[in-house]
Amino acid sequence: MPRTLVTGGAGFIGSHLCDRLIHEGHDVICMDNFVTGRPDNIAHLIGNDRFQFIQHDVTNYVYVPGELDYILHFASPASPIDYLQLPIQTLKVGALGTHKTLGLAKNKGARFLLASTSEVYGDPLQHPQSESYWGNVNPIGVRGVYDEAKRFAEAMTMAYQRYHGVETRIVRIFNTYGPRMRASDGRVVSNFINQALRGEDITVYGDGSQTRSFQYIDDLVEGVYRLLLSEENEPVNIGNPDETSILEFAQEIVALTGTNSSVSFKPLPKDDPQVRQPNITKAKEKLGWSPVVSRAEGLRRTTEFFKEELAVAAEVE
Ligand code: NAD
Ligand code: UDP
Repeated sequence: MPRTLVTGGAGFIGSHLCDRLIHEGHDVICMDNFVTGRPDNIAHLIGNDRFQFIQHDVTNYVYVPGELDYILHFASPASPIDYLQLPIQTLKVGALGTHKTLGLAKNKGARFLLASTSEVYGDPLQHPQSESYWGNVNPIGVRGVYDEAKRFAEAMTMAYQRYHGVETRIVRIFNTYGPRMRASDGRVVSNFINQALRGEDITVYGDGSQTRSFQYIDDLVEGVYRLLLSEENEPVNIGNPDETSILEFAQEIVALTGTNSSVSFKPLPKDDPQVRQPNITKAKEKLGWSPVVSRAEGLRRTTEFFKEELAVAAEVE
């Protein structure tokens, strides 16, 4: 029975990973300090014999008794409004948190998987982005706290692989959405769906010509799981290449929800990448992975989730 630590396990992605790993027969230890995660995301796992929760900030020394086979390091604020509000914590968890959890992996002889991001490509000059691209990041820009923390985390992970022989994996995750996102996380998917459901204006930043490529959470979890078990020790993009402009996306949400909301335009945040689309040739070849959930289907499931959340919130009021 593999024993696996998931940092950031009470977050959006981490909680889905805990579910999948338990389903695959792992004993899962979830570690989180709830800085951006929620107890609700793991409430259904409390009491499961295979699940253990440790409330801990992974930028401090990490102690886990017993053996560990795998460590998945997903702790980090991830949405722009979160990491802009938590710049130092974001840098610390990418740097110190990655160092601590790599040290733990070395100690336990565990395989380590780092959650990296398409943000390592910054405002990319190559389109679509493949793993061989080194990126175009502004180190001192407001988004630099996240991008550079993840770039450091990748460098640290490769150093532990090369110098300490730790088995490591790096996933570069592209924009992911689905149930358990926070309605107030400020990301475009949560904002647009919740604005549409409440009949508020849909806030497009800039002229909406910037593009993103959204992947549904189940596809990401499948990709991460395959990478974890694979022999690929260099970064792999996991994302859905189905690219859309943000303005088209706003119109798609209006059509999907049948809302009366209109689109309003707000200033474009600083250093907002103009384009983003994964090249997933490597994931296809090395992992036999490609996304299977269409945006229409993924958005339908996510809208259902947010509708239920709104209904619960209305009951409480
Ligand atoms: P999230 O905010 O929902 O989850 C992050 C979790 O990490 C939270 O539960 C938070 O409380 C926890 N955390 C943060 N700092 C911590 C610390 N010092 N100690 C312990 N726990 C801490 O965000 P998410 O979208 O689930 O992202 C998870 C991971 O995936 C992050 O590493 C993020 O960078 C990466 N990622 C996400 C996306 C995406 O589109 N969602 C894209 C690229 C990369
Ligand atoms: N965005 C927007 N309206 C919103 C929230 C975001 O137009 O209410 C835009 C944002 O400027 C960016 C894109 O949507 O161009 C994706 O933003 P998100 O915060 O989801 O993630 P990012 O990919 O920028 O990290």
